[in-house]
Amino acid sequence: MLPLRDTHGRTATDLRVSLTDRCNLRCNYCMPAEGLDWLPTEQVLTDDEVVRLIGIATERLGVEEVRFTGGEPLVRRGLVDIVARTAALEHRPEISLTTNALGLAHTAAALAEAGLDRVNASLDTIDRDTFATITRRDRLGDVLAGLAAARDVGLGPIKVNAVLLRGVNDDQAADLLGWCVQEGYHLRFIEQMPLDAQHAWHRDEMITAEEIFRILEKEFVLTPHGEPRGSAPAELFDVDGGPATVGVIASVTRPFCGDCDRVRLTADGQIRNCLFARQESDLRTPMRAGASDDELAELWVRAMAPKLPGHGIDDVSFLQPARPMSAIGG
Ligand code: SAM
Ligand code: SF4
Repeated sequence: MLPLRDTHGRTATDLRVSLTDRCNLRCNYCMPAEGLDWLPTEQVLTDDEVVRLIGIATERLGVEEVRFTGGEPLVRRGLVDIVARTAALEHRPEISLTTNALGLAHTAAALAEAGLDRVNASLDTIDRDTFATITRRDRLGDVLAGLAAARDVGLGPIKVNAVLLRGVNDDQAADLLGWCVQEGYHLRFIEQMPLDAQHAWHRDEMITAEEIFRILEKEFVLTPHGEPRGSAPAELFDVDGGPATVGVIASVTRPFCGDCDRVRLTADGQIRNCLFARQESDLRTPMRAGASDDELAELWVRAMAPKLPGHGIDDVSFLQPARPMSAIGG
């Protein structure tokens, strides 16, 4: 086994696999209304190529968890089959999905059957009008049905990820938490990051973890949840004495880069050693030119070494990566 170690002593065991850069929503903090220039089909890894690389990661490189993401992974036609083939690998990883849950009502059972373990869904509000404003699509009902279906077929614990936007849904954070507690979903608020395609993010406009905490504390008693955070990005709090919890992911104001155990594979076969990396390592070209599994594993190991110690968002020299979150795989 060749571990995916970097020069700062961290080892990546958690692989995020983006299956497409396309999406059926248009969250305004993620992409513009008209969408983006999608990757040409011939550049997107085939199902066989995706499964081959996951096999190399789990069998040779110590990867233990695989999370499928995008863009929207549910729009990838081969998703159920990719999950089934990942679950059948000799070193079966934990398999999860990050999704907007649109259409999940129809596929949750097949995904569970194929071997999916867990779902993380993105939902920023439970107010229909606000949902339509943020995502530019009036599809809240379908998303809520998708979440319920995932819970009903055992794809829990269902985590709900929410981004708060000033003047848009920040006044609805407590409603969202109350609803998640009632439904048995585990809510985590994520600080907005400079990864939008429009480059509209401003440090002084984002809602900080501190502010999120203050907003929630007006309606709930939050106490630190006992267990240490480890490499998990969310700081957890018990809600009104528990057992329900809420997480706050302070990616910008309290970064957790020192504990990072992640590595990313983009839909077009590039390894990114960090969400904010400005360089990628191409596996698609050598793979299509006939590289062996050993050679691809070696290239992957080399891609990890230069991982930077932190994202540097607060540095004056910080530059947003060329690709937006939806094309990297969030
Ligand atoms: N479409 C799927 C979804 O929305 O869950 C998967 C991809 S999406 C890029 C993954 C996560 O990234 C979502 O929870 C979304 O809210 C979050 N996200 C997108 N842009 C973001 C940004 N600029 N800052 C923080 N989170 C962001
Ligand atoms: Fe699509 Fe997810 Fe981006 Fe929203 S956050 S536009 S659902 S990729």
